[in-house]
Amino acid sequence: MEFTQENLTELKNNLLLEEKRIQGELQLISKPSLDGELTPIFNEIGSGEDENALEIEEYSDNLAIENTLEKQLKEINQALDRINQGIYGKCENCGKNISLDRLRAYPSAKKCTAC
Ligand SMILES: [Zn+2]
Repeated sequence: MEFTQENLTELKNNLLLEEKRIQGELQLISKPSLDGELTPIFNEIGSGEDENALEIEEYSDNLAIENTLEKQLKEINQALDRINQGIYGKCENCGKNISLDRLRAYPSAKKCTAC
């Protein structure tokens, strides 16, 4: 491993902070449905044609944002798993160490800059 225990703690904290931020954002735009999956909030703005169009536009925006956030959340969880397994920071493609600079900028990175 290219980085120290201290670096690893720092990166893990970054991941946990990022996880919290994303969960907070998800709470603003979605709510858990009965099956436990998150679904975007559907805001009733009004019943006019324009208002209905706006509701749908807002809903599809939220859906897109929610999908992105959930994907990021999944990557963060996978990175935390890799920390627990002791394989964090290795490129999943070539097996080389991912540079600390890259991990600081993008702590859930799975591949090195070259790959
Ligand atoms: Zn690589």
